[in-house]
Amino acid sequence: MTAPASPGSTTDLPSRLAAVRGRIRAACERAGRDPTEVTLVGVSKTHPPAVARAAVAAGLADLGENRAQELAPKAEALTAEGVQPRWHFIGHLQRNKVRDVLPHIAALHSVASERLVDEVERRFERRDAPGPLPCYIEVNVAGETSKEGIPPSEVEVLLRRASASTALRVEGLMTVAPRVSRPEEVRPVFRALRELAAAHGLAGLSMGMTDDFEVAIEEGATVVRVGRAIFGERQ
Ligand SMILES: *Cc1c(COP(=O)(O)O)cnc(C)c1O
Repeated sequence: MTAPASPGSTTDLPSRLAAVRGRIRAACERAGRDPTEVTLVGVSKTHPPAVARAAVAAGLADLGENRAQELAPKAEALTAEGVQPRWHFIGHLQRNKVRDVLPHIAALHSVASERLVDEVERRFERRDAPGPLPCYIEVNVAGETSKEGIPPSEVEVLLRRASASTALRVEGLMTVAPRVSRPEEVRPVFRALRELAAAHGLAGLSMGMTDDFEVAIEEGATVVRVGRAIFGERQ
């Protein structure tokens, strides 16, 4: 791995991005998968708009943010310059922030309550969008108390509610795996998410971050959310 970039530095960005894409291709090859099945979302949280812009210039079409207060101004700054990545909201979304986030995002990865679905529905008509918002239901597979997401046993009920909404289109399931020392240790978490999605007829799997995206791809990830490997360590 390359050394962490200094804050705000964008000189290493193209090579870091190329390295991550290379690792994605290699993981796909090991798993007998087509790399075009895997979308790379570059997680630009904590990095300034100039860094996000440099990532888009380097060919990254999808960017992820986890805080409404950060996403909206960053998206607006890039829009003002005519730069339009697809923004993915990947963090806990408070209901009172739905209104600020909806106009900017191409996908919501963190649907974890019926109340959030209600609020997206309520705010959706004001969103100037061609169709329903692609979303993922966030599952806390490992049952960690510190993590967002619903337990696997609640997926069916929330999925039914979200699927009944014309504001949302459920693509699949999302999870954040526990922090471990070796990525291999979280393979069962990714496998469990895949099996849960399959049991509900869902094709999309948003799983895998800097420390574990290769294992996630081997287990079927269709979206990986990678921050540090592309942008360097966060301050
Ligand atoms: C920060 C974050 C990521 C990216 O994490 P890295 O370890 O920097 O790759 C992915 N998903 C979510 C939900 C995050 O909050």
